Amino acid sequence: MTKRENETYLEYRKRLMDPVSSSFCAAKWLNATIWLNNGSTTSCHHPPSHKIPLEEIAANPSAIHNTTFKKERRKEMLTGVRPEECEYCWKIEDIQKDNVSDRIFKTVIYEDKDLNRIANMPWDANVNLKTLEVAFDRACNFACAYCNASFSTSWAKDINNNGFYQDLGPGSHYNNNGAKENIPPDQNPYIEAFWKWWPELATELEEIRVTGGEPLLSPNTWKLFDYFIKHPESNMRLAINSNLGAQRDHIDKFIEKSHNVKNLLLYTSLESFGKEAEYVRDGLNFEQWFKNYNDIARDANLYSLNIMMTINALSMFSTVEFLEMVNELKAKYGKHKAYISVNILRFPDFLNLTTLPDHLLLESQAKLATWYRKNENNPLFNEFELSSLKRLIDYMGDVKHPSRRAGPLNERQIYLRNFVYQYDKRRDKDHRLIFPKALSEWLGTLPEKIPV
Ligand code: SF4
Repeated sequence: MTKRENETYLEYRKRLMDPVSSSFCAAKWLNATIWLNNGSTTSCHHPPSHKIPLEEIAANPSAIHNTTFKKERRKEMLTGVRPEECEYCWKIEDIQKDNVSDRIFKTVIYEDKDLNRIANMPWDANVNLKTLEVAFDRACNFACAYCNASFSTSWAKDINNNGFYQDLGPGSHYNNNGAKENIPPDQNPYIEAFWKWWPELATELEEIRVTGGEPLLSPNTWKLFDYFIKHPESNMRLAINSNLGAQRDHIDKFIEKSHNVKNLLLYTSLESFGKEAEYVRDGLNFEQWFKNYNDIARDANLYSLNIMMTINALSMFSTVEFLEMVNELKAKYGKHKAYISVNILRFPDFLNLTTLPDHLLLESQAKLATWYRKNENNPLFNEFELSSLKRLIDYMGDVKHPSRRAGPLNERQIYLRNFVYQYDKRRDKDHRLIFPKALSEWLGTLPEKIPV
């Protein structure tokens, strides 16, 4: 990182980014998320993904990142034109010219020499990545309530067996089995292109993060581990997103292979506790997850172990119990073996926590605020973790609408009711036995159809 000590982000932007152009962002060159399972890519998680043309990868395997589409956006960035797909950043900057948007955070992580290099190369040149998030396939043993068939074969099974979910509003992301866009891994030209590009890509890549599906179920993930066995000197960071619910032999294999990687990071997901967590993250066996987590924290060779929280309307009732568990894990294994990140689910909008009625939401907020007051000086939680939790508490009190695209509250509440009732039936669950009685009582008062 080459931001000078005492230099503000704004000063950094003025010194290193503005001379290239007023719309420059290194993520367009040096970072990518690539879904090989459906042949699409994007630069960071804000712009929508775009399709990777098959004819482009036939001529050049690095086109899984260097698509003609992306190159055209780079050309715009070199000439001060704002790519439309990056509206997330322009919105922040348009509120106030000197606002620090994500394009600064996503540029500052690279070295000056890399910025000079990309700023001076022809706009249509192919470039190697520095940081990459990649999905090989969507095979997944979980079908979490907020996920969908594009990312999970278990979700696809639900849709194939039971049909589409009904009465969840327009454009429901549960009305697709993902079959059309997903290509099986054994005949996938994008995966082939990835491995063709890999020997060259690996020479400059600083971090590869594997997502899914469940990466531990993909043979391609283990092939990556083999790379580190052959290259024990590699400093490349390998990060794996895992639900930690795979069969025991996969967990043992992960622990064993971890000792061949110098910089290994594991990211798992959880945001609530016990039966409530099992309800939302369908496929999860909480006790098994906890055992796997402990075994990995104790026996694997890890740079860090992280828990990504996806805060949603059905996770709020046991957030505090979850945080107490994190506290114990930190005390037992060290802070870096239980870092948390707090992400607020926005889509589908009816599962956003603001769909809950005030009496339920404010009760959860009060519980969380009490925990926060007790722990705001807890040395086991760092500033980033605590400020994210504080932001969540504020969000619960202040935000009424999760996104611009979100529908009116009364409609979202009816969709939540319809979703829970259908999910119960399809997954052989009963929300009334899992969550506080007040939730089922409230859901029971809602109609099935939007009143006309
Ligand atoms: S400009 Fe913003 S939205 Fe676009 S790639 Fe950079 S960080 Fe992402």
